[in-house]
Amino acid sequence: MQIPLLDLKAQYAHIKNEIDEAVHRVLDSGHFILGPEGRALEEEMAAFCETKYAVGVGNGTDALTLALRALSIQAGDEVITTPYTFFATAETVAELGAIPVFVDIDPLTLNLDLKQVKAKITSRTKAVIPVHIFGQMLDVERLMELTAPYGIKIIEDAAQAVGARYRGRRAGSLGDVGTLSFFPTKNLGAYGDAGMVVTNEAEINESVRRLRFHGCEKKYYHDEIGYNSRLDEMQAAILRVKLRYLESWNEARRDKAARYDILLAEAAGRGDVVLPGRDPEAEPVYHLYVLRSRRRGEIMKALAGAGIASAIYYPVPLHLQKAFGYLGMNPGSLPVAEGASGEAFALPCYPELREEEQERVVETICRALTL
Ligand SMILES: *Cc1c(COP(=O)(O)O)cnc(C)c1O
Repeated sequence: MQIPLLDLKAQYAHIKNEIDEAVHRVLDSGHFILGPEGRALEEEMAAFCETKYAVGVGNGTDALTLALRALSIQAGDEVITTPYTFFATAETVAELGAIPVFVDIDPLTLNLDLKQVKAKITSRTKAVIPVHIFGQMLDVERLMELTAPYGIKIIEDAAQAVGARYRGRRAGSLGDVGTLSFFPTKNLGAYGDAGMVVTNEAEINESVRRLRFHGCEKKYYHDEIGYNSRLDEMQAAILRVKLRYLESWNEARRDKAARYDILLAEAAGRGDVVLPGRDPEAEPVYHLYVLRSRRRGEIMKALAGAGIASAIYYPVPLHLQKAFGYLGMNPGSLPVAEGASGEAFALPCYPELREEEQERVVETICRALTL
């Protein structure tokens, strides 16, 4: 029996009746863009994220672009972020002509290293984008203490952390603005592309609403250059069904992660693998369960041989990506991120994963390590 990294077919089988009903409801309505499903999802997500506003957009990448635009980030501005994330986090900064400034990560949590942020602040720094990597939040309040004296804005990239908390507060609700992705493999996944911007600030809410619809408030009157980036009615109806399960799915992911921690404790004790580092104030949602090992290659080969999926997150940190070659950063410049890229890999971790499957994953790893 194969064990995938994530089992969306099993998830669908579980909720098929409700999903099919939602899809048919939209088909019957004849209304597909900016309608009642999207509005209802926005209300439900704002309540879930504990923010005043939520705005549905085309995907998580556009959510970042629209958030940056709503904060008036423009060409030449500097935006501090992590090199250890999905490309979109910094791509959107660069696409607006702004300059991504990469700061190394914390070796325990693999999130932006807050101790190194201050040294990178200049008169051109306009924003910081912390990424709650793999579903574990970083301390946004502490980051804000660092940045507030300079008027620097904070965009939380919460694409991997929907539902996560830090000192009780939800991902996306702490910074000036938060961005979510509903890419199908995310913890709350659509059946296509979708994303969202969450905020407590009325002005940002209004700005993102305009920008997602061609810079337009009143139809055919355009106040600024915008985008076509909406969360469609079909995806909204689907996401509304899945949102009802999200807390229990996230809880199940935490259970699987805790079981892996126990099953892998011995291997970790020997120093063969490093378990995901936990910040005691964080309540993660384990978008991914990521181990580190100097013997990653052998372990992943053994897993593949046993029909068990695993995957490297992220093989190349952003400062060493070809696309960011123009920044002129060299290997060795951000050693913690580079080290993580050389050692980190994700194991299957999803709500439907069974206990005996987890045991098989760990037995396969342990066997590989004794060879
Ligand atoms: C998935 C992801 C995005 C982009 O989301 P899309 O919906 O795929 O555009 C941005 N940032 C992070 C950290 C992500 O994981």
